[in-house]
Amino acid sequence: MGSLSDGFGRRFHYLRLSVTEVCNFRCTYCLPDGYRKAGPQDFLSVDEAGRLVSAFADLGLKKVRLTGGEPSARKDLDAIIARVAAVPGVEKLALTTNGWNLADKAEAWRAAGLSHLNVSVDSLDPGTFERLTGHARLDQVLAGVDRALDLGFQAVKLNAVLMRDTAEGFAAFADFVRERPVAVRFIELMRTGDNAELFRAQHLSGLVLKDWLTANGWRPRERGFDDGPAIEYEHPRHAGRLGLIAPYAPGFCDSCNRLRVTARGKLRLCLFGDGGIELRDLLQSDTVRPALLARIIDSLGAKAAGHRLHENDPGATRHLAQVGG
Ligand code: SAM
Ligand code: SF4
Repeated sequence: MGSLSDGFGRRFHYLRLSVTEVCNFRCTYCLPDGYRKAGPQDFLSVDEAGRLVSAFADLGLKKVRLTGGEPSARKDLDAIIARVAAVPGVEKLALTTNGWNLADKAEAWRAAGLSHLNVSVDSLDPGTFERLTGHARLDQVLAGVDRALDLGFQAVKLNAVLMRDTAEGFAAFADFVRERPVAVRFIELMRTGDNAELFRAQHLSGLVLKDWLTANGWRPRERGFDDGPAIEYEHPRHAGRLGLIAPYAPGFCDSCNRLRVTARGKLRLCLFGDGGIELRDLLQSDTVRPALLARIIDSLGAKAAGHRLHENDPGATRHLAQVGG
């Protein structure tokens, strides 16, 4: 059987599966006007998601992240989690969420088989959080984070988009992780088709964070096998970690280990690639599994060496809710 590798010797054991394009938040850099319905919301069913992940697992997949849009906007998210968690070979099942209903749902998701959780929290200042997301719900989201920590997930991480507006918050996040075993990862703001103006005004190099970390006694830690793109820092007096995801840094794509499938079943070889390869027609029955495997393997040959964000080219990606960030 073939394996998940490309012409540059990169191996892909990590799949980010979008389960919806719908979102209830209005993050300034993603969906500033909120989700606008475009066509039918015919996102992958539980069965289709199960078949898709089983096929990737046959090819050596070890880790799946459910994302969106906001995955918890799906009423059947618990069933998707349970189905994907039960696929033999899937060792880690993660979810990225804005956390709006985490306090209520964390227990059910854990019971269904979710092992890792990423919660997006761009600022610990309630006013800034509201301005960036369109929702005065910081307390609600943080209550969810603490609930998740009590439930013994293998890892709970926070995502914060690094922007001029959020750079004042480093110290607050350092305080937040003093007692909590949580990794906060700042993601450099990425240019998408829709956010050119905001990008020009708000993009900040991750060097600003690195300088702050070094000046405040934080040291880079060794990377693990499937850590993904973050460089994390630790500090002797803090239980948690602070980290940086810097897609504009040289060599960022060299260690790419992930593939994406959109909520409508298209394989995206890069977050900022074009179009996508249709897989959905082969997700309708188990009998066509060999054809599905062959299409996935053939497609990987077309994966480019890297994104073209440096040339200000975000490919077909209008916003990350469309592809699954
Ligand atoms: N709705 C969920 C959430 O916000 O966690 C999952 C989907 S969201 C697209 C996934 C991640 O992408 C979030 O952490 C979000 O902050 C990040 N993101 C979205 N647009 C971005 C951009 N233009 N640059 C950097 N990160 C972005
Ligand atoms: Fe929704 Fe996540 Fe995009 Fe914010 S980043 S608008 S929560 S999909």
